[in-house]
Amino acid sequence: MYKLMKLPYQYNALKPDISEKTVNIHYNKHHKKYNDNLNKLIKIDIMPIEEIPKNIDRFPMGKRNQILFNAGGVLNHNLYWYSLGKEKIYPKGKLKEKIDEIYGNFENFKNSFIEKAKMMTGSGYTFLVTRSGNLTIINLPNQETPLSYDLIPLFNIDLWEHAYYLDYQNDRDAYIENFFGKANFTYASDIFEKIS
Ligand code: MN
Repeated sequence: MYKLMKLPYQYNALKPDISEKTVNIHYNKHHKKYNDNLNKLIKIDIMPIEEIPKNIDRFPMGKRNQILFNAGGVLNHNLYWYSLGKEKIYPKGKLKEKIDEIYGNFENFKNSFIEKAKMMTGSGYTFLVTRSGNLTIINLPNQETPLSYDLIPLFNIDLWEHAYYLDYQNDRDAYIENFFGKANFTYASDIFEKIS
């Protein structure tokens, strides 16, 4: 059984940028559903969830799409919750250095990320990813995970309507901009420190 991660803060921690109701429904309904579906598809978890995307050919052909979609759904939401926090926390250590090297400063990086997110069409995510010490900002549709492309995800924003519709209705741009008010780069900094 794959266990649903524990939300690292209270449901109301992201107010006013993301409401308590949105966090509650997003975590308890959407995120949980991906985990429940994954457990229905894989009766015995033969590998850590992070390894599923790279080993999808070990699962029965007829179930691969559903397994990949739901494993991606769990992993992408795990990262989404880690990318947020009660207070804004900036990148540190090697990640800060690399961001400064590539983008000049955090503000420029933030603007690039926001610009990329605004370009997303349909449902999906914008990710900050790394490979071989480099950083890139990418958009992926639906529940695709960067792990399928040999990229390590560090930070993301969920751009599915359920992530913002209760709070922002059709104003996705406002959600994307306000998201950075609660952005938390602790997880991203820790991972980048370890692997670069
Ligand atoms: Mn979501």
